[in-house]
Amino acid sequence: MIVVLKPQVTEEKRDELISWFKELGLGVHVSVGKFQTILGLIGDTATVDMDLIGSLDIVDSVKQITESFKCCNRKFHPDDTIVEVGDVKIGGGNFCMIAGPCSVESEEQIVTIAKAVKEAGANMLRGGAFKPRTSPYDFQGLKADGLEFLRIAREETGLPIVSEIMSASDLPLFEDVDVLQIGARNMQNFDLLKEVGATNKPILLKRGLANSLKELLMSAEYIMAGGNEQVILCERGIRTFSDYTRNTLDLTAVPMLHELSHLPVIVDPSHATGIARLVPSMAMAATACKADGLIIEVHNDPRHALCDGAQSLKPEEYAKLAEKIRAILEVVSE
Ligand code: PEP
Ligand code: MN
Repeated sequence: MIVVLKPQVTEEKRDELISWFKELGLGVHVSVGKFQTILGLIGDTATVDMDLIGSLDIVDSVKQITESFKCCNRKFHPDDTIVEVGDVKIGGGNFCMIAGPCSVESEEQIVTIAKAVKEAGANMLRGGAFKPRTSPYDFQGLKADGLEFLRIAREETGLPIVSEIMSASDLPLFEDVDVLQIGARNMQNFDLLKEVGATNKPILLKRGLANSLKELLMSAEYIMAGGNEQVILCERGIRTFSDYTRNTLDLTAVPMLHELSHLPVIVDPSHATGIARLVPSMAMAATACKADGLIIEVHNDPRHALCDGAQSLKPEEYAKLAEKIRAILEVVSE
């Protein structure tokens, strides 16, 4: 961390500040310029309150040099993390195809879709049992029954299951779920992040509707600081002034997150667009910019879906898309 002092700061005030940093256990490198003095803080500055220092009347500006995210930072872990879910690998050149309905609606529905997406080449099944809905009057998910139907679908197809957890108190119900999804609305539910960080299950962490990449990485850090290093980042669109799509798919997130972090990055073109006919092109673009996987909503009867029918592909559309994705992967993977 670098602290630039205002011009004309007295030596006494400067030394007072330096002693304070030293009391915090930091080394201080002092560089006296013609007009300004710069203090370079050496050591673990994670606990230093930048805003507090910046507010001091003798301080001109404060700059963080190393990022506050450590566990997920590529600087400290240059190799790609490969998250393993049973036989499925994600990251480090392993592409994963997660597909399934927005919400589990019945045993028959989830088993039918699971079989169809498996046939198309998906290697994981998604399905919400606990649904974070904007309106409390909308379908909230089948909850424990939904998880049971997912388990049956896994038994029938062998596909590992991904499902969203909204509250840590539901954790016992998720014992048998392979990947815990933290939804966009809960990306900064820090208590929930700490709780899933204490589990040994892979976590699919979605970017919040209005969150920066740094905030996404800090949320991953919450999970990893608890000892769980199996985190998959997911770009699912952010809220901008887009008027014709549900969200704006920020594909720059993919190469940027790959630079910043060693964690796998997948893309959700379904929630990003909200429109089924836009999903294939965004899915292909995400693959071309080297995402580590796709999570796509597929429903056998989108018109009657209880949630997100408008953005759901039919199984045959998904199968066509999956073929194109495989062709793009041939081109982009070294
Ligand atoms: C979902 O995956 O169904 C979902 C609710 O996603 P998000 O949290 O990205 O809105
Ligand atoms: Mn959905």
